[in-house]
Amino acid sequence: MSPGYLPFAGALRLPAFVCDNCGYWQRHFAVPPSCPMCLDSRHVVPQTGWQFWTREEAQTRWPCHWAEVEPGVWRFWNDPVTGIGPSAYLIQTPDGNMGFEGCPVFSEAALDHIASLGGMQVLAASHPHAYGALWQLQDRFDPELALHPGDLEWSGALQVSWPFDEVLEPLPGLELHLTAGHFAGHTVLFDRARRMLFCGDALKFELDPADPRRALTISAHKAFVRGIPLTPSELRRYREVFAPLDFVQTWTPFEQARNSGRAEALALIDGMLATRPHAAPVSLDSLRPVQVVVTISLVEPSLDRLPGYVAALEAGWSPNSTRDVSGEQLAAIRGDPEDFLRGLVEHEGRTVTLADGSKVPRLPGRVFWIWDGAFCGSINLRFVPGTLDLPPHVSGHLGYAVVPWKRGRGYATQALALLVPVARESGLPRVLVTCDEGNAASRRVIEANGGIPAGRKPHPDQDGESKLLFWISTTG
Ligand SMILES: [Zn+2]
Ligand SMILES: [Zn+2]
Repeated sequence: MSPGYLPFAGALRLPAFVCDNCGYWQRHFAVPPSCPMCLDSRHVVPQTGWQFWTREEAQTRWPCHWAEVEPGVWRFWNDPVTGIGPSAYLIQTPDGNMGFEGCPVFSEAALDHIASLGGMQVLAASHPHAYGALWQLQDRFDPELALHPGDLEWSGALQVSWPFDEVLEPLPGLELHLTAGHFAGHTVLFDRARRMLFCGDALKFELDPADPRRALTISAHKAFVRGIPLTPSELRRYREVFAPLDFVQTWTPFEQARNSGRAEALALIDGMLATRPHAAPVSLDSLRPVQVVVTISLVEPSLDRLPGYVAALEAGWSPNSTRDVSGEQLAAIRGDPEDFLRGLVEHEGRTVTLADGSKVPRLPGRVFWIWDGAFCGSINLRFVPGTLDLPPHVSGHLGYAVVPWKRGRGYATQALALLVPVARESGLPRVLVTCDEGNAASRRVIEANGGIPAGRKPHPDQDGESKLLFWISTTG
């Protein structure tokens, strides 16, 4: 439905000029004096002055190509091209075609091809960097143009007909969601049926040179060209928008990544929120937990399995990696084995002795023995109910110790994978795990379980040494 009231439609009959440096179109009575997009602090001013092209000149300089990249999803792009060079997408649905983003210029043949596909009923774009030549689509097909008013200042060459607030579903199954962040009106498009997110510049990928549909890294930024990070609240907003959207592919205006979806986007954001936001690319492999093949089990400490535990203590193994407790535990077991077992799993009224000899209350938690048919070690979860915070003497939510003769078999990795769901059941959405900076084996255990680096802190017991911190999400 058109607004039906255009008192000054003549403004849209002015000729259009495109900036060679960035690809931003302006309608003007003469060649524009400058380009506001280049002057914006997210982009750069051309080094040797502005150059503008008319539509005919741009069509000659920037040949237009198209391809059906996924069934019913068409990409239009220019190559060679100067400027930012975004792609345009046409998404076919049973209820009509939607255009999202614009390429720098459409050839007449490209527009004819869109007409042959049924034209365009709705048009939108993530943000001004990806407007391209939206105006050509509006002139030719007169679709509803849905843009968020947060970016209205950039849409002078266009006629917005369908402004929206947080969410708009302009065609059944296609959802526009305001993310803001990169631009005040930055919007992503979610295709429910295809489980694809057209994410604008909310995310950025580096592609595998051998496979242009496969991303190697992912990043998020306020300004890619300038390397400016987003703020924590902007990232939290991205997270709120992405979390309910079940997408397995992510398409920016530049990359059509089929191997990165919601899990990777949330892992990237969670990693930044756990430390501080940055604009650097993060390897997708480092964000994905590998599938851990489990051959061990976690068992509750019990009298019938106690002999294996005793044998490990007698061999000098200590379940506490910061303090050798083998001697005192052996004494306790000889005194009253059942009370010793209760002491492992209970926390009410119990204390633990720190390395300096002081006693502190034991935190609530769970203790398991790692079992492959014989005793292999122990792993425990400890936490303060209702918070992710931990007292200073506890380095992380999880601690484990494998007996020396069962090491090198991946048991710690498996035990961690089994304990993470226990942490979730205990109400922890994520857990903090630490390892000594020089402990490469322990670091691999954490990374294999999806640990996301969260900085470092001074080692509590070893001067000059550091502990590395990682967060592991318990919700996938
Ligand atoms: Zn420009
Ligand atoms: Zn952008």
